[in-house]
Amino acid sequence: MPKYKVIYDKITCIGAASCVAVAPKFWELVGDKAILKGAKFNEQTKKFELIVDLPEDIKLNLDAEAVCPVAAIKVEKLE
Ligand code: SF4
Repeated sequence: MPKYKVIYDKITCIGAASCVAVAPKFWELVGDKAILKGAKFNEQTKKFELIVDLPEDIKLNLDAEAVCPVAAIKVEKLE
């Protein structure tokens, strides 16, 4: 089963909470920013990363990516 990496740029997030609305399993608003639950911070890219592989989890994060108004969320397929 292909894995996907969810990449979240917290600096860009404006706290619109659209991601939380479509995928509360993964996204939560804390203060004026979203957090990606369980994600690890990548010191090199300064972004948060989470690997997902279940189809429903991939779909939830693709939905979050689609609704984010500032493109703070990217979902990439891993080889
Ligand atoms: S939809 Fe985008 S801007 Fe809004 S809270 Fe989520 S990551 Fe932040």
